[in-house]
Amino acid sequence: MSDVEIVEEDEISDQLSSDYPTQLNSDYPTQIKKIDSELRSVKLQIKMLEGRRRGLERKRNELIEKQQDEETEKLKEKNWGRQDFEWSSRLDAARVNVFGLDNYRADQLPVINASMSGHDVLLIMPTGGGKSLTYQLPAVISEGLTLVVSPLISLMEDQLISLQTLGVNAAVLNSSTGKEEKSRILKEMSNSSSNLKLLYVTPEKCSKSKQFMTKLQKLYQMGRLVRIAIDEVHCCSQWGHDFRPDYKFLGAMKGMFPEVPVLGLTATSTANVTKDVKEILRIPKAMVFMAGFNRPNLHYSVRLKPDQASTNYSNLAEIIGVEFKNQSGIIYTTTTKEVETLTDELCKFGLKVGSYHAQMEPEARSKVHRRWLKGEIQTVVATVAFGMGIDKPDVRFVIHNTLSKSMENFYQESGRAGRDGKPAKCILQFRLGDVFKQSTMVFTEQTGLDKLYSMVSYCLNTASCRRNLIAEHFLESWEPVPCNKMCDICEGECLTSNEEEITEYARASVRILEEAKKKEVRVTGLKLVEALQGRGANNLKIEGWKGGFSKDKIEMIVAYLLVEGFIKEDFHFTPYSTISYLVVGGREIRSILVNLPETDTLHRNPSKRGDEKSGKNKEKSAKISAIQENKNGGSGNQTKPKKLSSKRGHSSDSDEDFEIKQKVLKSSIVISDSE
Ligand code: ADP
Ligand code: MG
Ligand code: ZN
Repeated sequence: MSDVEIVEEDEISDQLSSDYPTQLNSDYPTQIKKIDSELRSVKLQIKMLEGRRRGLERKRNELIEKQQDEETEKLKEKNWGRQDFEWSSRLDAARVNVFGLDNYRADQLPVINASMSGHDVLLIMPTGGGKSLTYQLPAVISEGLTLVVSPLISLMEDQLISLQTLGVNAAVLNSSTGKEEKSRILKEMSNSSSNLKLLYVTPEKCSKSKQFMTKLQKLYQMGRLVRIAIDEVHCCSQWGHDFRPDYKFLGAMKGMFPEVPVLGLTATSTANVTKDVKEILRIPKAMVFMAGFNRPNLHYSVRLKPDQASTNYSNLAEIIGVEFKNQSGIIYTTTTKEVETLTDELCKFGLKVGSYHAQMEPEARSKVHRRWLKGEIQTVVATVAFGMGIDKPDVRFVIHNTLSKSMENFYQESGRAGRDGKPAKCILQFRLGDVFKQSTMVFTEQTGLDKLYSMVSYCLNTASCRRNLIAEHFLESWEPVPCNKMCDICEGECLTSNEEEITEYARASVRILEEAKKKEVRVTGLKLVEALQGRGANNLKIEGWKGGFSKDKIEMIVAYLLVEGFIKEDFHFTPYSTISYLVVGGREIRSILVNLPETDTLHRNPSKRGDEKSGKNKEKSAKISAIQENKNGGSGNQTKPKKLSSKRGHSSDSDEDFEIKQKVLKSSIVISDSE
């Protein structure tokens, strides 16, 4: 910039009149031409300078960002876990006397100290980790009011009740707050000697109610706005999975109340989301604390969902009825209809299962939730509507009957298992058809398909520890986390076939899709699988192609080709639904060598693996009878157990019975590659 002189406009015209003295009777066209040529050169220079300006500005911003990051990094390296802050003894006293907690959990103290020191902080900690304490405890020992922004009315009310039980003065202000309560709260806000410590509000309150914001401003001017805690802070970001437009407004808070520290909390944030949140909330220097992400007690595994629905039902019944007999769990699946069917089918095995989805009456839904909490229902079969607010510590299994729409969702949903720290299992069932169920729902979201395909890659993975894949997904700087054989990969349970050449399958897929396009035939994923098996519609068959792999294997291959961009989805709307068709992806096919999961091992029921090796049939058959016992208790809509006990009397523990049942299950799960 320094080599560009700043010239006043007047000076320029002076200069021009001396350069081009107005001469009477002179040659105008020549003069104009000369000026035109110089104008062109000036324009060119301006263009170049503008380019240079943009470059310099970009560089400058980069440096500022880098400087900020380094400063923040340094700041974070300070020992925030110290116990010699001015407030440390008061903090400890309140923790014990008000909250009745003997210790801090990982990262709670550093976050509290950093925030109490006036810094902006983002805390990323899994659900149940103890985020609330990081603003509740400071609120209790501070003069003034802590504002807590939270998106869910039910969660606010839960917190209000527990705070009131502890004797902490807190209030909630949302759309359902009564008139009197509302005016009481607003009065408290302008009362300089009020003892109100925490005020929970919805983001809409901040973005839409001028009256409320005016009061907040007053509070700030009195120096009584202590801290702004923003729960579920990932809702700010469009990259996050539950973007809420009202959260965007919260960025204005920093402008209005620059001195008030912001504490953002979330259970789910990727590096991108975190960056976005900082920008939106205008807290570029916020220290980011990430804690408790690795859940050492959770066992992660992926298995291939049986092609036959009935086999799937009996496998699931065995897992929950035998391996997890009398233990609580959740099965997630996609649609309302699937929830209802699966519940009915599992009830037929005599299991105590209840449905939960958004289309149920709130009353019926909360009844299922309550009965599950009390242990009257063993398993809730649910859509993702069964989510926030679940705080049952002894969930021993979370089964994803359908893959989640993203790794974030999967982590959060499976994370509802094992809150008590005891071992629990997170089992995901993979099947190609489910990918399309999810893709037709998420493809309109900005990053919907990318996120889904990351989830698919997790399912197809054969090489990396599942725990580390999850960690990698969330952490910016990533260190390996110990797994202790708490995933199918580390256990060596997810056997891989040797590296396989699938180039021919890739080429055949592309040919099938190209031929179909010429004939104006649309090809769904499952149609492509059929064609690759050498089966199905004649107009999709390619000459000389024999296939050879099993259907399961081919589904894996198609999933692989999809996430790797060799083929891609093409969505079509009908009046009732969206359909995903496959088209050529455009990526050049050279030689494709991959390790895909061995479908046969994926098929094996996890609960049976050990027993098959050691032949503990006796114990097993005792377990099986558990399903029978359950039949007589619990939920109303049960019919006779089917299949599992079809060859059995009322109750029998004999080894023979066990053998029969094993056969029933096995015969339907063996896959032959020669199909
Ligand atoms: P989050 O908001 O991270 O999902 P919560 O703040 O609701 O989690 O806390 C989850 C549970 O953990 C609560 O029952 C809470 O009382 C408990 N908890 C929080 N901190 C501690 C602690 N230091 N020691 C023991 N229990 C704690
Ligand atoms: Mg919380
Ligand atoms: Zn592992």
